[in-house]
Amino acid sequence: MRLIGPAVREDVREATPQSHALLVGIGVIIMAASAVYRPIVRSFDIKFVREAAAHVRAGGHAVVWEKKNRAVLVFEKPADDNPADFGLWAVYDMGKSRFKLATSGALKGLATTLVPRDCLWIVKRRAERDSIHPGSTRKMAIDCTKCAACCHDNEVVLLEEDIERFKNGGRAELAKPPYAKRHKDGRIILTLLPNKRCRHLQRSNRCGIYEVRPNPCSEFPMGSECCLYAREDVLNLHDGLVPTDSN
Ligand code: SF4
Ligand code: SF4
Repeated sequence: MRLIGPAVREDVREATPQSHALLVGIGVIIMAASAVYRPIVRSFDIKFVREAAAHVRAGGHAVVWEKKNRAVLVFEKPADDNPADFGLWAVYDMGKSRFKLATSGALKGLATTLVPRDCLWIVKRRAERDSIHPGSTRKMAIDCTKCAACCHDNEVVLLEEDIERFKNGGRAELAKPPYAKRHKDGRIILTLLPNKRCRHLQRSNRCGIYEVRPNPCSEFPMGSECCLYAREDVLNLHDGLVPTDSN
């Protein structure tokens, strides 16, 4: 699974690192059926950078290819007060933490981040997945109670405020074994059951500690690239074309 966490922004903006292979922090909102509008991902050769910018300004995400093995992900500038921004999560999904705002050219004002070489296949697969969807955004019906994919095989890192919330909610034990474990690097992480389900995930697919659930869970956005990946990885649910292995 891939991971999540709160964002920290500056001019060269940075957010909590995530990783495609090592997915930290997930979260589940465990909400009943909802509809979300998610960005459609399209690939553009650098010659069509204006079209890429128009696609992003209409709500999509663009992968702009500067060379065969060099691509930039372009998305709208995330709002400072929205840790659930889909652009941020598209960056997290590549294990990245930083993005820039373009200051000139067709992409001026838009957020960009270089796609790591080992993540080129990820952005290719996103574009392939979305190739069957028209437009720049897509309305997607989601029912977290029928999914809970992000509550599997994850790594939910507890923040100070989560531990404080546990204490204030009379559940201080949730930050200790067997519910959580301190790793060698000092991070405290929720433990999983042997079948890789979160220990707090109920048979009904609802979160057993919903009222005090950690921030990485409550901030995890439905319909983000991390959510779509979890659904593919755990449930084999693809919101679009099933990607080929040719990437
Ligand atoms: S993976 Fe997405 S749809 Fe599934 S429970 Fe998590 S947020 Fe909801
Ligand atoms: S704490 Fe709740 S929301 Fe978070 S991973 Fe576990 S079951 Fe899911």
